[in-house]
Amino acid sequence: MKVGILALQGAVQPHEEKIKRLGVTPVRVLYPQQLEEIGGIILPGGESTTMIHLLKLNQLWSPLKHFVKIRPTWGICAGAILLANHVSRPSQESLEALQMTVERNAYGRQNESFVDSLVPTEIWKRFDKTSENIEGVFIRAPKIRDLGTGVDILFTHQNDSVMVQKDKCLASTFHPELTDSTRIHEYFLSLCQK
Ligand code: GLN
Repeated sequence: MKVGILALQGAVQPHEEKIKRLGVTPVRVLYPQQLEEIGGIILPGGESTTMIHLLKLNQLWSPLKHFVKIRPTWGICAGAILLANHVSRPSQESLEALQMTVERNAYGRQNESFVDSLVPTEIWKRFDKTSENIEGVFIRAPKIRDLGTGVDILFTHQNDSVMVQKDKCLASTFHPELTDSTRIHEYFLSLCQK
């Protein structure tokens, strides 16, 4: 199986390394035809406004909007912003795959970025029996505000939902590619293999 990483902009390489470590081949997605050869896609962290611009420039906007609604997808930070069906501060268009509102840059500026332990929900604990402590790296992260019905929460941080899932669509406001653990990548690959 090959797993795509949207490679127009942002934190691509750390995901590639994790995926390779788990024995799966990563594909840097730049063109629409590449969506046909992958079992799932990671939308990495970066700058969501820039990504929207580049997605349109590369004719990826519409094919990706279709892909993320039916195939395994994981959006991280800017990627999670792309997946939300409503974006605030400021509002911008999105791929509308997950019923939630995200408020951009809700923790403040770049130098207010932080690392902290996350609280797993029962849904995550059912997957991860190791009880490994998962740390969240938050870099100008958004906050998830209103979750639609049927969107599950996998991790919280100070009562905010920071990783959510509906069907095969996953969104995290923190960056699991920047910590040592591979658990969340393993979880996404398990969705791709289903
Ligand atoms: N602040 C960025 C945005 O609004 C996201 C930051 C990130 O991906 N780490 O797109």
